[in-house]
Amino acid sequence: MEKYITTPIYYLNGLPHIGHAYTTILGDVMKKFEQMRGNSVYYSTGTDEHGQKNQHSIEESSLSAEDFLKERSDNFKNLFVDLGIDFDYFVRTSKPEHKKIVREILQDIYDRGLIVKKSYEGLYCEGCEQFKKKSDLDENGCCPDHKVAPKAISEENYFFKLEPYRQWLIDYIKSHPDWIEPQNYANEVLGMLKSPLDDLCISRPKSRVWLGVELPFDSDYVTYIWFDALVNYISTLNFGHNPDFNKIWENSHHLIGKDILKPHCIYWPIMLHALGINPVKHCFVHGYWIGEGGVKMSKSLGNAVDPVEVINMLGVDALRFYLINNMTLSGDSQVSIDLLKQGYRMLANNIGNLQMRVLKMTQKSLEGKVPSPLAMNDGDKKLLNDISAMFSRVYSRDMDLETTGELAASIIKAGDMTNAYFAANEPWVLAKNPDQRGRFEAVVYTTLEALRLIGLAMYPLTPATTAKILQSLGIESPVFKADFTIMKLKEGTLIKVGDPLFPFVE
Ligand SMILES: [Zn+2]
Repeated sequence: MEKYITTPIYYLNGLPHIGHAYTTILGDVMKKFEQMRGNSVYYSTGTDEHGQKNQHSIEESSLSAEDFLKERSDNFKNLFVDLGIDFDYFVRTSKPEHKKIVREILQDIYDRGLIVKKSYEGLYCEGCEQFKKKSDLDENGCCPDHKVAPKAISEENYFFKLEPYRQWLIDYIKSHPDWIEPQNYANEVLGMLKSPLDDLCISRPKSRVWLGVELPFDSDYVTYIWFDALVNYISTLNFGHNPDFNKIWENSHHLIGKDILKPHCIYWPIMLHALGINPVKHCFVHGYWIGEGGVKMSKSLGNAVDPVEVINMLGVDALRFYLINNMTLSGDSQVSIDLLKQGYRMLANNIGNLQMRVLKMTQKSLEGKVPSPLAMNDGDKKLLNDISAMFSRVYSRDMDLETTGELAASIIKAGDMTNAYFAANEPWVLAKNPDQRGRFEAVVYTTLEALRLIGLAMYPLTPATTAKILQSLGIESPVFKADFTIMKLKEGTLIKVGDPLFPFVE
C-alpha cells in the first residue's frame, strides 16, 4: 500500500447530502488517479455513530440504537456504492475494534499525565456539542451556526492540555508548507494559533451522553467526539497492533471540509504528537457547496440538492464530473439542479455527440471497423500528440485538489480540440469522394484514437463512461493505466454503436 486516503466520518443525525457525496467522490477520484499512475491506495470512509446529536436522533426515532445506527449508516454506504466509490474500509465507530483502540489511546495519554479532571462551567451548544465562549456567539447571544442560545452548564470533565504543544505546532506548519492545502487554510490555522489554546474537553458524563466509548479510567464518562472520531484514521490501520503502521501513516492524506479545520489541524496533530506519531502527510481542505447565486442550501429554501435525485435524473458520472470540475479552490462553490443539467449538457455536447457522430460514420461508411491510419498527416498527428502530452502532464502531477480540477479541465479541452478537428476536416465531405478515401480513413482513425485517449483519461472522474467509450471502440478488457501513447487503436477492430453516453434530458 503506497497511499492512504481518508474522508471525515459522517454524522448519522441526517441523510447524506451533496457535501458528503463530494468529499467521498473526491477521495475516489484521487484513488483512481493514483491507481492509473501505478500506485496502490487504501481508501477509508464511514460514519461517526456516537455523540449527543446521534443520541437525540435515536431518542426521537422508534428504533433501537443499534438498528437506528445500522439503518442510517447504510444510507451513507449505499449512496457511496451507487456513486461508484471504491472504498476499501467503511468505518463505523460503533465497531468493537475501533472502540478498543480508542480506549487504548485514552489510557496511554492518561498514563502520560496529559489528561486532567476539573470542574467546568460554560455555555454549551447542543447543536455543536461544544462549549462556547461569549466571543463565539452572535449579537443575540446565540450560536451563529444553530441560532439557539447555548445552555449554562456546570460539570466535572476530563481535559487534554493543548497549550504546551502550541509552539511545536506553529513550527511544524511553518516548516511543512504543503501540509495543509490550499495554503490559505494553513494561514487560517496559524491565525488560530496566535493566542493560547484552551484545554480540550474530552469527556461527557454518562448522565448526559450515553452514546459513546466509556473512558478506560472512569466508567461514569464517555469520551467526547474528537478522541473518538479522529482516532478512526488510525484505528482503521489497527494502530498499536500493526507492525506496518508507520509505513502506511507516512503516506496518509486527509480530505476535510473547512468546517472541521480546527479539530483536524490543531487537536489531531497535537493528539498524535503526544502519542509519538507524526501528523498526517497532507490535509486537503475544501470549501462548502452552496446554492446557485451564492445562497446557502436549505430545505426551507427548496434549493438543497439531493444526490440520489441527481443520480436518478442525470446519472452518477455527470454528478461526479460536475462536482470535481466546479469545486473552486479556497472558496465555496455553487450547485443546483439547473447547474448540474448545464454540466450534463456540456458533457453531452462535448464528448457524447463526438462519440456518436464518429461511431455512426464508422458504421455507415467503414463497415463498422477502425480504418487505416496510413494517410495521417502532420495535423492529425499533432492533435493526438497534443492531447497525449496534455494528459501525460496532468498525470505526472502530484495528487491534490488542483490536479483533480485540472484533470476535469483537460478532458473538456481535449474534447473541444477533437470537435474542432473533426469539424475542420469535414470527414462527411471526404466520405463522398473516392479520391479522398485515404484521408477520410485517416481523419476517422484520428478521431477514434483521440476519443480513446479522452475516455482513458476520464476514468477517475467518470469510470462508467470510460468503460462505455472503450467498449464502443472495441476494447474489451481495458487497462486503466496512465499510458497515453498514441496509435494504439488497431485497424480492423469492430466498433459498437451503443446508446448515447449522455442521453437527452428535459
Ligand atoms: Zn451550535
